[in-house]
Amino acid sequence: ALEIRLASRPEGWPTHENFEIAEVEVPEPGEGRLLVRNLVMSVDPAMRGRMNEGKSYVPPFELGAPLSGGAVGEVVTGAGDFQPGDLVVHHLGWREYAVVDPAQALRVDPEVAPINAYLSVLGMPGMTAYVGLVDIAEQREGDVVFVSGAAGAVGSLVGQLAKLRGAAKVIGSAGSPEKVRHLTEELGFDAAFNYKDGPVREQLAAAAPEGIDVYFDNVGGEHLEAAIGAMNDFGRVAECGMISQYNNTEPTPGPRNMFMLVTKRLKLQGFIVIDHAHRRDRFVAEVGQWIREGRISYRETVVEGLRNAPEAFLGLLRGENTGKMLVTIGER
Ligand code: NDP
Repeated sequence: ALEIRLASRPEGWPTHENFEIAEVEVPEPGEGRLLVRNLVMSVDPAMRGRMNEGKSYVPPFELGAPLSGGAVGEVVTGAGDFQPGDLVVHHLGWREYAVVDPAQALRVDPEVAPINAYLSVLGMPGMTAYVGLVDIAEQREGDVVFVSGAAGAVGSLVGQLAKLRGAAKVIGSAGSPEKVRHLTEELGFDAAFNYKDGPVREQLAAAAPEGIDVYFDNVGGEHLEAAIGAMNDFGRVAECGMISQYNNTEPTPGPRNMFMLVTKRLKLQGFIVIDHAHRRDRFVAEVGQWIREGRISYRETVVEGLRNAPEAFLGLLRGENTGKMLVTIGER
């Protein structure tokens, strides 16, 4: 069976050299553990952080050990409440076979949604969008909402949710003309721009001359400074991620206009989705309903084969995905 290991820690942008593809025996699950054959896995921006050494909200990946991350698989050897043939979502991707603690597995119902959705719109990225917009940014009816990384897994749901929850206007930024078209023509954004076309500050001012009330930040850097500049009084920023900085080797200077937090009475709050598990049922009920009604749409960019997972991950950092980036590992 194949697994993908961390071969070395990247300095700056990761490369294929940082990964090792290894052939191992199919593991024995042992007492009380599931043996799961993985079918599909997620690659996420946060994995870049875990390739570095040092303390963060999750421990770093270990050198020489398989990487990990969200995956959906089929139970081969049951344990706890799970029988062979059941489908589960768990945290041990990057390998064909995983030994999983049943307490760390959640049942997946392919009748409710395609299994990939449990890694995208109904999974961790969807939940991140929901919690960030509803609980952290406290979006209200009539708000003008701006989201960066808007064509990605989290951002594409943020924009659609904001509209459904009564935003006066939703603006998105993304890194290609195709993505910008996708936002306005397929996802119902009121306005969108390509941040590579010119200064974010100018493009945002043109899209929202009335100012913005909520900024959902996936990107950091120039986007954050521009958003603070465009904020109306009592605006709120949900700090979800800062992907423009994940491959930096030196800390970057912060926004130069932080004093506006004071003068405009802004709130800016970071969050990590794993702290908000109590919101899961509410999230699945609301978003699941909107998906069934066809009021939320979602895309995936799917790369075939575990061997291509490093390339999928590198492609994610370069912006090659629209919607969620996934890797198929096996057939059902
Ligand atoms: P995406 O599907 O959005 O994929 C990443 C995207 O980032 C790329 O497609 C690319 O799109 C964009 N990007 C890459 N480099 C840059 C750059 N320099 N400037 C602007 N955009 C860039 O990933 P996710 O939806 O999974 O994650 C989005 C954000 O949410 C990330 O910051 C991630 O770390 C964060 N996150 C936070 C969580 C939390 O609990 N706080 C949980 C999950 C995700 P483009 O072509 O537009 O550049």
